[in-house]
Amino acid sequence: MIWRACRNTLPTKLNLTRKTIIDNPTCDRCSSNVEDSLHALWGCSGLVKVWDGDRWSFQTREAFADFKHLCGWIMENEKSPELFAIRDPKQVAQKRWDEIKTANPLPNRSRPQPIPKWTAPPPNIYKINYDGAISNADNKAGVEVVIRDCNGEVIASLIQQLEQAYQPVEVEAITACRAVEFGSEIGVDCAIMEDDSKVIVKALRNKDNGLLSIAPMVNDVSLFSSLYSKLSYSHIRRNVNEVAHCLARLTLITPNYTVWMKDVPFRTLPFVQAYLATL
Ligand SMILES: [Zn+2]
Repeated sequence: MIWRACRNTLPTKLNLTRKTIIDNPTCDRCSSNVEDSLHALWGCSGLVKVWDGDRWSFQTREAFADFKHLCGWIMENEKSPELFAIRDPKQVAQKRWDEIKTANPLPNRSRPQPIPKWTAPPPNIYKINYDGAISNADNKAGVEVVIRDCNGEVIASLIQQLEQAYQPVEVEAITACRAVEFGSEIGVDCAIMEDDSKVIVKALRNKDNGLLSIAPMVNDVSLFSSLYSKLSYSHIRRNVNEVAHCLARLTLITPNYTVWMKDVPFRTLPFVQAYLATL
């Protein structure tokens, strides 16, 4: 409205008279002056109560040619944009934006995502999780396997130390080979092999022996897989493969070869129990 008043486009009686809509421009409030924008909003004696107070004391001191002149004077002399409801557009926009944000809070982007966790296989199928570990300092590697049923109960687990620090992908391939062999040894018939190495999972799925260093192991896994009635390969994130991962570290400090039936080593028990506690 302030803008329209400055532009003299308000439907004041003077403007309506100029457009021949009415024929008398006299202010209805005071019946003594022509009602233009300045008079209607500022000068009319009927507005005394509105502009009462020290803040507006200049009303009686200063004379203005029109409403635009009045606004210019306020901005120039009072240094207060809030005076006469004239506000800094930036401040108004910021205030409106703050109000909108308060009313419609944005989704919290830092909200923590649900932590992925290991899931048990469907009934009558076992999950064979495996992982490898390497210690270049000791020139050793280790393989580990843990087999669980549809209730998350451990059927068997093993760790085996290797007297050589292989390349990571080689250790993973050796471990996959040992895992599929171990499952077959204890009589598992339907299983999902689960590993945190995408390279190995892809190679086993496609029976891809293109990588020379792991070709013999991929072929062996393929041969052992024929002993199962159903065997599939699944990728799992490392932090979800924590039982296998923890076991693999254990292999580096445990010589030889150890099998636990219906159990896992004490060190990895908390991870198994944590899963069982969520059931
Ligand atoms: Zn008047």
